[in-house]
Amino acid sequence: MDNSPAVAFMKDEQYRMVYTNKTMDRIFGLGPGAVPGKTDFDWLPEEVARQTRKNDEEVLKCGKALEFNEVVPTPDGVPHQWLVVKFPVEEASGRRLVGGLAMDVTGRKRAEEQMRESQAMFEKLFESSPDAIIATDRSGQIVGANAQVEKVFGYSYQELVGRPIEMLMPERLRGAHAIHRQNYYAAPRTRAMGEGLALYGRRKDGTEFPVDVLLSAVEFEEGQVVLSVARDVTERKAAEQELARRAQELTRSNAELEQFAYVASHDLQEPLRMIASYTQLLARRYRGKLDADADEFIGYAVDGVKRMEELIQDLLTYSRVGRTGKSLEPVNTSALVACALENLRVVVQESGALVTYKDLPVVNADDTQLIQLFQNLMSNSIKFKGERSPCIRISAERNGRYWTFLVRDNGIGIEPQYSSRIFVMFQRLHGRGEYPGTGMGLAICKKIVERHEGRIWVESAPGKGSSFFFTLPA
Ligand code: ADP
Repeated sequence: MDNSPAVAFMKDEQYRMVYTNKTMDRIFGLGPGAVPGKTDFDWLPEEVARQTRKNDEEVLKCGKALEFNEVVPTPDGVPHQWLVVKFPVEEASGRRLVGGLAMDVTGRKRAEEQMRESQAMFEKLFESSPDAIIATDRSGQIVGANAQVEKVFGYSYQELVGRPIEMLMPERLRGAHAIHRQNYYAAPRTRAMGEGLALYGRRKDGTEFPVDVLLSAVEFEEGQVVLSVARDVTERKAAEQELARRAQELTRSNAELEQFAYVASHDLQEPLRMIASYTQLLARRYRGKLDADADEFIGYAVDGVKRMEELIQDLLTYSRVGRTGKSLEPVNTSALVACALENLRVVVQESGALVTYKDLPVVNADDTQLIQLFQNLMSNSIKFKGERSPCIRISAERNGRYWTFLVRDNGIGIEPQYSSRIFVMFQRLHGRGEYPGTGMGLAICKKIVERHEGRIWVESAPGKGSSFFFTLPA
């Protein structure tokens, strides 16, 4: 008894200590023979002694061994939990004693408490999850479900437990699911169920709804359990469909608009040509023959017609970008810049512009459109030149999947707040008296770049020159 980890003691009929083992003496800091003859009231706090006395009395009264949980502090005042077995002992002399064996279970109790707490927390999380969580065993039988399952599927917990999980899906999917389930057990991992497939849940009332399911397998002592976390995605699916419908609508109305712009500009050309030739004829034949007012009016008409021709021509070019674009083929952009320069030879010479470009890559593109793109950007650089003669540098840099091209000039620059407006059709920052143009050039550039799946933007400030960037897939 003295080497036992358990505390052992013996008390007489008056509950006076007649024996304590060494373990007890050590734990309670009692010297050998310190307590014999004393009752618990002599060496323990009164409240504790009252409790132990009550238990001692009960053992003698019912004459058999009983188990108790007693809280008895050690001498440092710290309360300890003891699991105590007390039993009656009858000596040959007829004297009745109370024997006791006690184990300190404070640590165990604390561990149990922590276990209970974490279990309670887990249950709370499980129950308060916004998703329906269903646990199934290897045979696909439901072994657990949280409160949300009832809300989502309409079945109570009792109606679910012990039944196959397939009851929660439409009949037409059940057969295939049983096979998927077996495959999942062969290689269980956390993943979405039926990636890319349209999954449906079935409520108790037979109605169906689109569902997203996340699967994970958990090992328990009793075996493997699969958790299915299911979410009703009716609203999300509806929103996706609405978005797809709108995108389709937008594509359709864009195409219609493009068609309209094309037809209008194309068909307007013919009568316009007629007006142009007759106003020019009028101007030639009757200048100086009518009065001064008539000369002025005819002059306005000729100007107006010219302008209209420019606008319609640009509109037609714009609407042709998407319509008649060639298929994309590898093209050497240095050669395309050379071509654009050739088209601009007169303005380049007149303005004394210096154009440099080097190491431009080969990209997949529509060559005619890229020539137009470089041409529009370079002619703007020349048109919007500053006091010095124009200097244009063209370069390209590879950024991951894209080439970023830069057309940089030393012209008048642009206020940063206009940097997106200038790419909109017919938007100009200057009057026609100052700089000629229709305001379509950059809108055409943007459409060309976007047709090649790139984007275009400008970085500039007044007096600092402009840097036009655009990307093309490498
Ligand atoms: P347009 O040249 O016919 O006016 P764009 O669409 O080509 O039409 O350009 C729109 C406006 O953007 C121009 O009117 C001008 O104000 C500004 N812009 C374009 N390129 C430059 C440039 N390189 N430097 C300064 N301003 C520019």
